[in-house]
Amino acid sequence: MKESIFNKIFIPFYDYIYKQSNRTVCYKKLKCRDFFSREDLHFIQWKKLKKLVNHCYYKISYYRQLFKSLDIHPADIQTAKDYGKIPEFNLLSLIDNQSELLSPGYKEKNLIIDYTSRTTGIPAKIFRSHQEQKYIYALNARGNSWCGWNYRDKTYRLVLDRDYIKQADSLTGKFSSFLPESNLANTKNISRDRMYSWVKQIRRFKPSYLYGYSSLLEEFSIFIINENITLKGIKGVFSTAEPLIKRELIANAFKSPVYDEYYLSEVPCIAHECKYGKMHLNIDEIMVEAAENCGSYETGELICTPLYLYGMPILRYNTGNAAVINSEEICECGLPYPTVTLKAARMNDNLISSNGKLVSGLVLSSYISAITKGIRRFQIVQKDLYNIKVKISAPDYPNQENEQNIRKLFFELMETTSIKINFEYYDKIPPDINGNFRPIISNIGNNDNYKANIRAKTGHIYQ
Ligand SMILES: [Zn+2]
Repeated sequence: MKESIFNKIFIPFYDYIYKQSNRTVCYKKLKCRDFFSREDLHFIQWKKLKKLVNHCYYKISYYRQLFKSLDIHPADIQTAKDYGKIPEFNLLSLIDNQSELLSPGYKEKNLIIDYTSRTTGIPAKIFRSHQEQKYIYALNARGNSWCGWNYRDKTYRLVLDRDYIKQADSLTGKFSSFLPESNLANTKNISRDRMYSWVKQIRRFKPSYLYGYSSLLEEFSIFIINENITLKGIKGVFSTAEPLIKRELIANAFKSPVYDEYYLSEVPCIAHECKYGKMHLNIDEIMVEAAENCGSYETGELICTPLYLYGMPILRYNTGNAAVINSEEICECGLPYPTVTLKAARMNDNLISSNGKLVSGLVLSSYISAITKGIRRFQIVQKDLYNIKVKISAPDYPNQENEQNIRKLFFELMETTSIKINFEYYDKIPPDINGNFRPIISNIGNNDNYKANIRAKTGHIYQ
């Protein structure tokens, strides 16, 4: 009864206040397509792609210049192979051409900013309108519904996004915590006390689902198991933003199934897992290609075009994530969306401070993007508890303001000033010996033996 009052009165009011009243409409429209055929989805995809390419050609100065330099007109694009002639897009192109990528009429001050650096170390800003953000919410909700999640089910969120944290600390965040559909954890840094506060919050809120970044869910799961804590009523756990490595551990901690989704800041909602454990691509809203074979379903790095983003459109973004698209596979769930097998490895480690606090690599990356200027790429290397190396690639260096801001950030997140932070500047930061680039590397954050030693020596137990 209480929930139905909340759903009928409070949520529409909340939607109205935050101008999200169309979320339900978008969700219902997208959800209908679960019953379409694969051909119907391809038809929708192609229609949306043609419309977006036209928009880029006629409205976006970056693409207009690019198409002209290649002597391509939207009318020339008749097949996926034609579309594959447009060069792949990368984040450095975004940094170099930010203002030329914005649609006319979009004012930066009215837009939502998302940061791309969480898995790349390239701090480019993505601008979105409130309407586009609503659509992302609805598309994500459709993907989660494939595992039985209901649009209005109560969900406890363990996410590390800067905006979420900001919201959690604000009056708006406090108000939203009274709403039944969603509750937000404070994840600025992680300690034993903080995880106990999450347990308390979950017991009070009684969510049906947990939703969070994979590495954070892992840390929480270890804590839950070690402390012999039982949380009742969790029907499922959704892992997002980074590869899901320890599914069994999380399932064991919360006594519930764990579902994965493939979501990038640059291209939200690429794929979602169904209840049969298969990852389905949202091909009606995202054009997906494999790098080696333009326009065909093969193995390779995924190239994605979000078909619903018009404010700052991105054509043919190379995700850098290898995958196999199983175009012929028919999943038992009956959904028409093709399945994909991801080959991505985790890109970020977590950092540990000398006082036993753990700082997520994902949240650290987001903060660095928000507080620095003019950086093309960064990499953080934690050598031990007291030494951190910050590698920066930037046209103008050294930049005293950036260095000061980064120092202040480390002291704040790690809650100690006993850290020596050294800056190194590069034209191009080299990848590791396997050719991979990892933005946050910790020699101790992912080393269980080292963590056990710290616990034994200091008595600080964060897990
Ligand atoms: Zn399925």
